[in-house]
Amino acid sequence: MTESILPLSPSADLMNDAFDDLRDRSKEQRLLSAKARIKRLDALYAEVWRRRDDLKVAMWEDFRKPGEEVDLTEIFVIKSEIKAVKKGLRKWMKPRRVSGGLAHLGSVSWIRYEGKGVALIIAPWNYPMQLVFRPLIAAIAAGCTAMLKPSELTSKTAQVVAEIAAAVFPANEVSVVQGGVDTASHLLSLPFNHIYFTGSPEVGKIVMRAAAEHPCSVTLELGGKSPVIVDESAPLKATAKKIAWAKLSNAGQICVAPDYIFVPRAMEKKFAEAVEHAMTELYPGTVAENPDYQRIVKDVHAARLLELIDDAVSKGATVAHGGQSDANARLVHPTILMGLSPDSKIMEEEVFGPVLPIIPYDDLEEVVKAVNGRPVPLALYIYSKRSRFIDRVLNSIQSGGASINNSVIHVSSNQLPFGGHGNSGIGSGHGEYGFREFTHMRGVYEQRVDGAASLLMPPYTPWKTKVIDRLLRWL
Ligand code: NAD
Repeated sequence: MTESILPLSPSADLMNDAFDDLRDRSKEQRLLSAKARIKRLDALYAEVWRRRDDLKVAMWEDFRKPGEEVDLTEIFVIKSEIKAVKKGLRKWMKPRRVSGGLAHLGSVSWIRYEGKGVALIIAPWNYPMQLVFRPLIAAIAAGCTAMLKPSELTSKTAQVVAEIAAAVFPANEVSVVQGGVDTASHLLSLPFNHIYFTGSPEVGKIVMRAAAEHPCSVTLELGGKSPVIVDESAPLKATAKKIAWAKLSNAGQICVAPDYIFVPRAMEKKFAEAVEHAMTELYPGTVAENPDYQRIVKDVHAARLLELIDDAVSKGATVAHGGQSDANARLVHPTILMGLSPDSKIMEEEVFGPVLPIIPYDDLEEVVKAVNGRPVPLALYIYSKRSRFIDRVLNSIQSGGASINNSVIHVSSNQLPFGGHGNSGIGSGHGEYGFREFTHMRGVYEQRVDGAASLLMPPYTPWKTKVIDRLLRWL
């Protein structure tokens, strides 16, 4: 069997061997009882908990993630996901009897929920532990073996993730491969049975193309521009605070972060002031010295955000708040942009940082048109006290998920499917929905007593022709 922890950017041979081990084991993994699967998940959480401080150090070194947010958005997420799986797994796994039609007289039919086999889980850097382990929990619950590829951009956390996995699972159940694009590209050439990819829409397309070669099913958890639509009935201060929090948490590096905001023209200035006030309330003093304010993952990512601001300003936008930055320190201050030109790059690319464009509107119809003119977003946020307004927005704009009078928090639910639609993704994770992604629903039919079907086999005598005719009319 291959080593539990593979070297960084392992050779193709090592990855192939690790894959073969996972594939050999997957036949037995599929048959594990709910109890055995849960035992593994409990062990996973115990090890995550044991390495809690190491995870905090690693994420601080990777991108100065505050320890409290490691607890809240990484460790808590894993704990609650495992809890939801433990509660539902026996029910989800249970074969389900289904009824047959007339042609199935004398038979029984049922669905078996079987692990698909070997899963590949590729994760991004912005939640470097939970976006590896949350899909893994679903894969283990479903009875799959799994190869994990954490992001190379948060390498300190990736190492702790690899050590946690190696301490809990034998290498033929879960194997962690660390490396960049070349490593990921080789993994994509292997015949996995399911690929669960979280990352950008651009790479999502590469993953889907690679999956077509085997072929295998994919879950694509992608990103995009998630709009916020504020109605005049929304309470200004509370709305501004929730949006400011959702935008600045993780320094805006969240797939479902509010990307741009529509506010009624009459409220625009007051709203911008309220968001600015909320931003300074959340992160008082100098942000450079505020330990609660996170950094951008790499210099190039910070530089990209500055380019977006410069481009917007060169096309007429004003910086209503912030705008300062230190790309070398990977620090971008909380920033509000107003007066944007529609051809600014920031209105085309996913922002993925603490920069918030505010756009005034006169009529909801123009908002609907503007959002529907872009790819389907991962999240849609509506702030309103009027149910007619909320319904109108929900009915006229598609999105992966939606949240009313709050932002981002819907992602933490284990009862709601979480996933995109179109450009923002395919398939859903979390709770039972994650379990289903890694599960093959195998339909089984058993003929117990010969029924109508065998009576109607050739040769077609006049009597049989008549019975077929009657059956068609009767059905
Ligand atoms: P990314 O697509 O650049 O990288 C994601 C993973 O893919 C990494 O492990 C990386 O090594 C690998 N990868 C990169 N290029 C590859 C290639 N050519 N072939 C194969 N693998 C490759 O994404 P990122 O920068 O790490 O993360 C940011 C993006 O992820 C944003 O678009 C964000 O919205 C999205 N995201 C989505 C979710 C979600 O649940 N929907 C969650 C977090 C992030």
